[in-house]
Amino acid sequence: MIRLHDTLTREKREFVPLNPQRITMYVCGPTVYGRAHIGNARPAVVFDTLARLIRHEFGPNSLVYARNVTDVDDKIIASAEAEGVDPSVITERYERHYLEDMGALGVQAPDIAPHATQEIAAMIAMIERLIEHGNAYEAQGHVLFSVPSDPDYGVLSKRDRDAMIAGARVEVAPYKRDPADFVLWKPSNEGVIGWDSPWGRGRPGWHVECSAMIERHLGDTIDIHGGGLDLIFPHHENEIAQSRCAHSGLPLASFWVHNGFVDMGSEKMSKSLGNIITPAELLAQGHRGETLRLALLSAHYRQPLSWTDEVIAQAKNTLDRWYGFVDRFTRGRFPEHEPFPNHGRVLPGVIEALSDDLNTPRALAEISAVIASDEEGVRLGSNIWEAVNGARLLGLLTSSSEEWFRGGDFDRTAIESRIAERSDAKKNRDFATADRIRDELKAEGIVLEDGPGGTTWRRE
Ligand SMILES: [Zn+2]
Repeated sequence: MIRLHDTLTREKREFVPLNPQRITMYVCGPTVYGRAHIGNARPAVVFDTLARLIRHEFGPNSLVYARNVTDVDDKIIASAEAEGVDPSVITERYERHYLEDMGALGVQAPDIAPHATQEIAAMIAMIERLIEHGNAYEAQGHVLFSVPSDPDYGVLSKRDRDAMIAGARVEVAPYKRDPADFVLWKPSNEGVIGWDSPWGRGRPGWHVECSAMIERHLGDTIDIHGGGLDLIFPHHENEIAQSRCAHSGLPLASFWVHNGFVDMGSEKMSKSLGNIITPAELLAQGHRGETLRLALLSAHYRQPLSWTDEVIAQAKNTLDRWYGFVDRFTRGRFPEHEPFPNHGRVLPGVIEALSDDLNTPRALAEISAVIASDEEGVRLGSNIWEAVNGARLLGLLTSSSEEWFRGGDFDRTAIESRIAERSDAKKNRDFATADRIRDELKAEGIVLEDGPGGTTWRRE
């Protein structure tokens, strides 16, 4: 039984899918005009992990996971104008980067990745319905959602009206009947990307994109809607209002799941504050994607995560220990695509932890505990494999220990011959030469380990 915290009811409840054969999950995806930072990577990794858990518990084909791509937006238009290119040049470039960066973090592609520019007809149809129902109105080429027309508006963020208006820095515009009303459609000037609509040439607002895509690809009510905490208001509040009013009051999602912020010391990591670090930069510094993934999972998803060098170093240290364990039990042979040993059974403690509102820190601790008992020389049974399978369920331990310790751009033959040279020197009691070779290799990022079976090497 999976229990999840639902932001709407503010409680942790049993996750009972509407249809266990077709569980539906939607997560708000990237606006593709710049490189994703670690704060953007957190929801991608968190909901990837939740998707893996659901598939493990309900079956490999039980889940339809959709994550959209916002490829029409004022920031995209501004970037395109600054570079003097078509917006599609910007959006294709940054979508490609997004998929590369998330792929490096072990994030599997969602089942459906709808693009806003491909879904305009569905958005227009939804806006027309909202106008018909009296929940939206046209004014000066814009279509606005009428917030006072929806008595339940504010149900997710639980803010009162004045706080909402103040908190959202809502734009006061002459075409708005109420300051809280938000844009469903806006006009595009000549030379700006736009589509023909009943209200003239224009483009959609951001919020309506998700409501229309969810309806078209997943249905009126979905099981899980996810995203970062910062999307609760106004984005998710507006999605709820649009979808509920378009669907005669049916709820948009059974569970609203939100991940916490990533902060850099004391401030939230955000592009507007200029304190971002990207997975691309961290990978270029030599960190492994798997290390970054573990670091992102090291805090519970609803808690804030402080992104520090220490968090990365701890994640690396954990994986060194885990891969060392795999190395000892499999003699370096544990290729990525080999079937799971022990019928894929996962350490029960890992499933229990993940089923308790995706408690990844506890799941990681369960795996580490098995590995620690191995290090203490306790004789283990099948839980060796269960621990490895638990790590793999989390998208970790996906390489071979050989690749983890010795993979990369190394001339293996040269290293082996220098190790042999050093062994000869030691036999001849020429310790100065032996030490020199060890220090030279260390300077190249290679650490030697002398053991009873001879000398082995690994990346530093
Ligand atoms: Zn959305």
